[in-house]
Amino acid sequence: MGLRIYNTVTGRKEPFSPLKEGEVRMYVCGVTVYDSCHVGHARYLITFDVIYRYLKFLGYGVTFVRNFTDVDDKIIDRAKEEGVPVEEIVERYIQEFYQDASALGLLTPTFEPRATKHIPEMIDLVRRLQDQGSAYHVEGDVFFSVGRFPGYGKLSRQRLEDLEAGARVEVDERKRNPMDFALWKASKQGEPFWESPWGRGRPGWHIECSAMSVKYLGQPFDIHGGGQDLIFPHHENEIAQSEAAAGQPLARYWIHNGFVTVGGEKKSKSLGNIIPIRDVVQRHDAVSLRHYFLTSHYRSPLDFSEQGLQEAEKAVERLYEALERLSRLVPSHDVAEPDPALLEAFRQEMDDDFNTPRAMALIFEEIRSVNRMLDQGKTRGVYPRALALEAMGEVLGLLREDPEAFLRRKRERWIQKQGLSAEWVDEMIRKRARARKEKQWQEADRIRAGLKEKGITVEDTPGGTIWKVR
Ligand SMILES: [Zn+2]
Repeated sequence: MGLRIYNTVTGRKEPFSPLKEGEVRMYVCGVTVYDSCHVGHARYLITFDVIYRYLKFLGYGVTFVRNFTDVDDKIIDRAKEEGVPVEEIVERYIQEFYQDASALGLLTPTFEPRATKHIPEMIDLVRRLQDQGSAYHVEGDVFFSVGRFPGYGKLSRQRLEDLEAGARVEVDERKRNPMDFALWKASKQGEPFWESPWGRGRPGWHIECSAMSVKYLGQPFDIHGGGQDLIFPHHENEIAQSEAAAGQPLARYWIHNGFVTVGGEKKSKSLGNIIPIRDVVQRHDAVSLRHYFLTSHYRSPLDFSEQGLQEAEKAVERLYEALERLSRLVPSHDVAEPDPALLEAFRQEMDDDFNTPRAMALIFEEIRSVNRMLDQGKTRGVYPRALALEAMGEVLGLLREDPEAFLRRKRERWIQKQGLSAEWVDEMIRKRARARKEKQWQEADRIRAGLKEKGITVEDTPGGTIWKVR
């Protein structure tokens, strides 16, 4: 069947075929760097990270662009609040973003352009729009004239008349239509500015993405993505500007991920339910957060809960435990290729608009089945299935480290909390092994029971004795 993607423009799942065979060009709106990223950002970042990984897994050469919005009212306000230069705010939150991205295990995009490094391209685009009559200049501001773009509202499926009727009363009187939006804004005293044909000013938010996406990807390109909250007005306006300027579609597939709520409420500062990524990754392995998000489809709304995250943490442990168990098998009679049927099943789920919940269900079903086989002492055919599990975990970004190292770290963290040490447990296990060797079964059982009492389970496997914690 091949990959099918839900396209916001048409409201349907469509077969995916890139403009150039074997190559995908994708633009995803980046963050505005004025504050710490929260779990809502984490969801959109992980969504597009998995899409990027999956497209690569399918064999495409992918050019992936994710920008930074580094000039904006919010950044200027923050700088004023703190009494520091705008650049200081920008640098601080870009550095923080990179720390979060690394904690979340995001692959690095091909290009990460900053808006302020592309001012000439934006001025050029605004000038072209003005020259052809799609934009007009009033007192240092330049507005896009929505009335001159017949397709306005097609992405969010709204009619211009309805939008006009719903526009707020205190509309800027210099606008010809209440829905007209700023392409360029005159800078006020003390704000960052660039020289332009309309005087000293700065770009509007939407024009940034139109200029940067087309610069790195051409027009049209294949995929444009972002959070659902960007559909209107941001992406609607990007489409209007870029299509009016070039007479060509901007992008062919528009992908949007659903909202994250906390305690059933949309996140907001006043409700105090904005959870920074850094807080979550301090308390949990970041891979648990990824697991948690991927068990919902990216387009569904998701209610964030601590309990959900804890369940995800347990599930991730099961995955790593299974892989560790499998890694102790010596593949003497199996081919060293991932099981093709299993990979095909995975591909079918992911091809259906990146259906990660079903792909995850497949992985965990497989883990149960492989564990059952190993429990019965059957090892034939298990190794290719282990390799397939690894490949799938890789595509979803769930496998970030060696299973043994991951589990050791987990165990040590737990052990420390109990006021014990891993060395002590290892020593007890050695003592038990000696007792068994000397056929002192009672002593061996006593040691095992002592460990059990502390929450440590000892397991004898063909590859040696291992221990687990609660
Ligand atoms: Zn954008």
